[in-house]
This record gives sequence, C-alpha cells and structure tokens, in this order.
Amino acid sequence: MNTFFIEFRDPLFSIIIFFALIFVITFFSYWWGRYKRQEDYRHLDKFLRQFRTLPSQNELKVLIAKGELSEKSWLLLASSYFKNGDYEKCIEIYNELLKLGNKANYRETMFLLGKTYFKAGFLERAKQIFLEILKNNPRTPQALHYLLLVYEYMRDYTSALEVLEPLDELDKDISKDSIYLKALALLNDTNLSVEDKAQRLLKIYKKTGQLTYLVFEFLFRIDPKLAWQNFDSSKSELLADILWHVDKKDLDLDIILQNGYLRELYSARGDISKTTESSVFEFDILINLNSSVNATLSFEYICDNCKQVFPFSFNRCSHCHSIDTSRVEFILCKDYHRDFSEENNSFQ
Ligand SMILES: [Zn+2]
Repeated sequence: MNTFFIEFRDPLFSIIIFFALIFVITFFSYWWGRYKRQEDYRHLDKFLRQFRTLPSQNELKVLIAKGELSEKSWLLLASSYFKNGDYEKCIEIYNELLKLGNKANYRETMFLLGKTYFKAGFLERAKQIFLEILKNNPRTPQALHYLLLVYEYMRDYTSALEVLEPLDELDKDISKDSIYLKALALLNDTNLSVEDKAQRLLKIYKKTGQLTYLVFEFLFRIDPKLAWQNFDSSKSELLADILWHVDKKDLDLDIILQNGYLRELYSARGDISKTTESSVFEFDILINLNSSVNATLSFEYICDNCKQVFPFSFNRCSHCHSIDTSRVEFILCKDYHRDFSEENNSFQ
C-alpha cells in the first residue's frame, strides 16, 4: 500500500513539485499576458472613442470655463464644426465663449453665432443677434447683409428693403438686391392677380434687363403665350431647362424656327426635325439617336460666382448669396417618364 505514496524526502517528490510549479507559473503567465492584451485593446478603444463622439454640452461648458485652450482655438474648432454642418455644437461653443464675457472678440463671436443660427435655420434667433450687433455698431455691413438675408428668408420684404438704405449709405452695391427683393415682394403679394404680377414683373425686366430666369420661369408657368411674346432669343441658353419643359402645345414655332439654338433644342426633344446636328454635345447625341432610344435631358445648376453645383434652379445662391448667377448644365439620362407612361399604356 505504501508503494503508492511518495514520501516528501523522496527525490521524485521534488521533481513533481518542480514540474507542478513550472505548470502553475506558465499557466498564470499565459493568462496574465492575455488579460493585459485585452486591457490594452480596451484602453485604446476608449481613447479613440473620445475622438469619435462629440463632447456633451456640459463637458464643453467645463472645458471652455477651465480656459486650458485659447479663445482662438475654440473659434477654430467651432469653424470646423460649422464646415461639417454640426451647427448645434458650433452654437454651443459660441454661446459659452460669449458667456465668458471676453470683450476682445465679442462682436465677431456674436456675428459668427448669428451666421450659424441663420445657416441652421433659426431665423428669429439670427435676427435678434444681428439686431443686437447693429444696436451697438450700426455701421457693420456684414451684419446688415445677413439681416437682409434673414428678412428675405422670413418673407418680410418690407424690412429687407429697409436694410438696403444703410447698406447704400456704406457705399455697398445694392442694385441687384433691390430689384430682386422688389420682384419677390411682388410675387408674394396676395392682393395682386397673376396677370398683374406678370405685367409688373415684365416692367421690372424691361427696365433693368435682370432677373431673366425668375421672370421667364413665372411667365412660362402661368402664360406661355405672353412669355413667347416677350421672349429674347439671345437668352435661350440661360433658359434652356425652362424651354425644355414647355408643353408641346404651347410652343411658338415661328420664334423657334428663326433661332438656331431653339431649333436644335426642340429637334433634340423630338418636336421638330429641322436640323441634323448641334454644337451642343447633348443635343447632338439626342438628335442623332433613334427616337426609339429612351433618353432625355436632366439638369443641374452651377453658381458662376462660387462654382457650387445644385440639383435645383435658384435665383439667389444659397452658398455665396449672389443673385442671378445660376448657369444650367445638361445631363443625358434615361427617360423614366416615358418608361412609366409606356408601362401604364400596356395595362390598357
Ligand atoms: Zn454661389
């Protein structure tokens, strides 16, 4: 029986203890290494998460109040939030900076806050900010310009026109703004009939030669006959998308056949076949394509001033706020409308 037991003085006992110790040490060092590795990953994840999530409003308050970063750094950070479209964080930073009451950049920070409110669509708050700036510094053209935009977006055209007066006194060019605001006021006047609006818009157009797109978009929509009567063929290129969408029954063939560009445009659309080629690439393709090919034109709009591209037409660029700078570009695309009407016909 004793042969199964090993006495502790036995050398075999020491060897067993030795290997047992090696096993325990190896086992612990393996688990310790694994645990440390996981800890490192967790630490790194936690560290990187700080950069993925934005600081909360309270965290921002504490950070700004501590004053560890300079005001300029906070303004730079707010500007990058603004560029990324994160207006909420941008507004929080400006508001906290204003609460600190540093007088050095107070007016500039107020202006940036107003601009951000405007961009974020908080028009009433933006208005209050710009009025506050102008109360203390009435000769601030940037604030006046934004106040004008705020009133325009709020459709308060009377107030917007009033802002032009101090801008004029500061030698700013207000002619385009003035014509544009008067035209908008006219279009939104509920006391005027559609015919009256058309006549008054034409009067503005003939007097100034501006707002071609705005005027003819309205005229072709409400009275194509009147639009053709006052149509200036030299503006065809500018109005290409409007002309492309004029109903076939409203086309004035006498005017169209006399103008090369219009002949090409309506030949490309398939209404007439008076030309076999065009200097406009997209028209040329459509003219030479078999009419059974399901292709048409779609449009995009480029601001000639800031080169931003928009999928919809505009009279005032929403990016740089310049007026009448839209240029239409053509895109060849599949005619989904024709697809849809053919599908519907096949069910009849
Ligand atoms: Zn622009």
